[in-house]
Amino acid sequence: MKDRDKVNLGGKLESLAKNVGATYFGIADLTPARQCISEQGGEFLAQFPRAVSHGFVLMDSIVNALRYHSDAAAIHTYWYHAHQIVNPRIDSISLMLAQSLDKAGFQAFIVPSSQRVGKTRLAGVFSHKLAAHLAGLGWIGKSALLITPKHGPRVRWGTVLTDAPLEAGMPMDEMCQDCRVCVEACPVHAFTGQAFDRPRPRSEIFAAEACDRYVSDQEQTIGARACGMCIYICPFGQKN
Ligand code: SF4
Ligand code: SF4
Repeated sequence: MKDRDKVNLGGKLESLAKNVGATYFGIADLTPARQCISEQGGEFLAQFPRAVSHGFVLMDSIVNALRYHSDAAAIHTYWYHAHQIVNPRIDSISLMLAQSLDKAGFQAFIVPSSQRVGKTRLAGVFSHKLAAHLAGLGWIGKSALLITPKHGPRVRWGTVLTDAPLEAGMPMDEMCQDCRVCVEACPVHAFTGQAFDRPRPRSEIFAAEACDRYVSDQEQTIGARACGMCIYICPFGQKN
């Protein structure tokens, strides 16, 4: 594939995604992360050298209500908006991108917008955050969320894996620095406060099981599986 064709295909995919609501778009070179992709999702997924990453910004009014994260109305509204409205939209953008790659003669594998594998594993087959980070769209913060400079963690991500030799972005440096706002705000102290500045097991920065227990309890008491304080509280993305 010539350089000009790579740019043309990348530009076409970006226009497609942004014309239907994506705010963020980037291409990740996955080759430096091949080992950890294989460990999480297996050899089939690890064979893809590129990921197309796209992000949909959540409405401030919905995220700001998460400061009342024990209130049934706030949690129900967030959960419904993120899971029932935004996730299907992300999957549909991923489908459009995958169809376009397929028509251009390349392989394309859609990573579902939200997925858990197995009964006990609290993760999907592939990390959307990893793709967005390697594409240069943000960094993985102390909250284990993908943080963008402008919208913080208030973005939901979609990913299409491909063998198209698209021109990739450069990963962004971590910018949490001395901030510990999410570490101190989490009701179950799920974050260790370690920066994600080098590849390390997720358990070293985030006790996913503690968060999962908390949101499961929320489901028992108020009927919705959500908390989201770490999304609301991050100074990146807060307008005031
Ligand atoms: S969603 Fe709530 S409980 Fe879970 S990690 Fe974030 S702040 Fe902690
Ligand atoms: S709240 Fe602070 S430490 Fe946590 S992810 Fe945001 S910037 Fe990083």
